Amino acid sequence: MEELDVLIIGSGPAGYVCAIRAAQLGLKVCCVEKSKLGGTCLNIGCIPSKSLLHASQIYDQARHYETMGISFSSVSFDLKKIMQAKDDSVKTLTGGVSFLFKKNKIIHKKGFAKIISSNEVEIVNNTNSEIVKSKNIIIATGSEPLIPTEVLVDEKNILSSTGNLGKVPNHLVVIGAGYIGLEMGSVWSRLGAKVTVIEYEDHILPNMDMEVSKNFQKILIKQGFDFKLSTSFNKVIKNNDKISVLIENKGQTLEIDCDKILVSMGRKPYTYGLNLENVGVGIDDKGFIQTNKSFQTSVNNIYAIGDCKKGPMLAHKASEEGIAVAELLSGQAGQVNYDTIPSVIYTFPEVASVGKTEEELKNSSIQYKVGKFPFTANAKATVMQETEGFVKILSDSQTDEVLGVHIIGADAGNLIVELVVAMEFGASAEDLARTCHAHPTLTESIKEAALNVDKRSIHI
Ligand SMILES: Cc1cc2nc3c(=O)[nH]c(=O)nc-3n(C[C@H](O)[C@H](O)[C@H](O)COP(=O)(O)OP(=O)(O)OC[C@H]3O[C@@H](n4cnc5c(N)ncnc54)[C@H](O)[C@@H]3O)c2cc1C
Repeated sequence: MEELDVLIIGSGPAGYVCAIRAAQLGLKVCCVEKSKLGGTCLNIGCIPSKSLLHASQIYDQARHYETMGISFSSVSFDLKKIMQAKDDSVKTLTGGVSFLFKKNKIIHKKGFAKIISSNEVEIVNNTNSEIVKSKNIIIATGSEPLIPTEVLVDEKNILSSTGNLGKVPNHLVVIGAGYIGLEMGSVWSRLGAKVTVIEYEDHILPNMDMEVSKNFQKILIKQGFDFKLSTSFNKVIKNNDKISVLIENKGQTLEIDCDKILVSMGRKPYTYGLNLENVGVGIDDKGFIQTNKSFQTSVNNIYAIGDCKKGPMLAHKASEEGIAVAELLSGQAGQVNYDTIPSVIYTFPEVASVGKTEEELKNSSIQYKVGKFPFTANAKATVMQETEGFVKILSDSQTDEVLGVHIIGADAGNLIVELVVAMEFGASAEDLARTCHAHPTLTESIKEAALNVDKRSIHI
């Protein structure tokens, strides 16, 4: 094969998006994937989990429509079909990546990539091995679950976020109160499991605005979640088909019996077998590939994007980096604004945020104003009977620039987009307050929270 302009290792949202953008810009591109196209996001992460969340939410809501005057004689679910619907969505979307590769004339090589030198990659699969030359190499190899060495994940009874359950557990213990644990805990709780979440910190969702975290925890407790906070996980005890988890809280050891365990203690960069040390690509003490602002590693023409480099481990952040690096390689001014990367937790209600938390502003001694508006005072939320949660806007006390927004509520994941755009354009709370929002919509709560920054909300 003649020398490539770009060889990308990994076809997750970082790698495949980068490949498409680079091909659009006229570069000769090859993407190497050792497993299935689409990476963690499409095959085991974002898409499968959202399919299960959506199905379980429909089931849960259907049982609670009486207050709207709608009742069903019986509501049931078929877990096999729920899983099939999930697999169908994954198949459609991964097929979409394959179609886009063909459309953009991207060479897709199946196999494991190992970097041999700054412009050579060896690709090995079941049938052959070849060395491919490229002017630039982009590492987009993603991440893998962080599992303590003493826990033996079998993906049957003790699962990582990669595993699947074929049956609703009676009692699921989730280790780690991050977004993956809470999303998957929600799925199984809605389908009938008792869910206990163990968390080392004294609050759920470390890094989340504390007020949001505390409110969200109360909502989840009402939904049936049991939380053991400030609690460390010691070990899993397996006795024939019975399992239990040994935990420690304030010096006291407790044993919790359960039938399934989900270990969701975070993720770590995946760079196995890339040969980074011999090529001279530096990693930090947590294993993330070190890059400069242009995504260049310590080797000039080797770049890293997505979960394998530092930053929020999110699909949209990975894709933004993929686009930016492709544009930089074509002489354009590709960049990512890390201050406006939204994060969404797809539970019910959803939790969404962008920018700084109140704690971060305090720690950086930035003077700020707070505007809040509850969904109980929003007309659309009232007719939907989905009034839990609020919008919270943090703006600079001097300039009024929006510095952070945090939302708990129905459709928070879509609502946050308005704030991301506003922050991208450097909007003030006053700008949001002066923007006409359609009535009746949930978005009116954003305008009201912006008005509340100067204590002039209309509906509270
Ligand atoms: C359960 C779960 C739910 C999630 N939900 C969300 C969500 O709702 N929203 C969100 O934004 N993010 C979510 N994420 C995170 C998201 O999946 C990741 O941030 C995203 O996939 C990172 O993209 P990436 O391209 O960097 O890596 P990945 O998607 O991990 O892709 C890396 C690819 O590289 C391949 N690869 C690795 N090494 C080699 C090699 N040597 N040779 C060839 N190929 C190689 C791998 O096989 C893989 O396909 C979720 C994650 C999980 C686990």
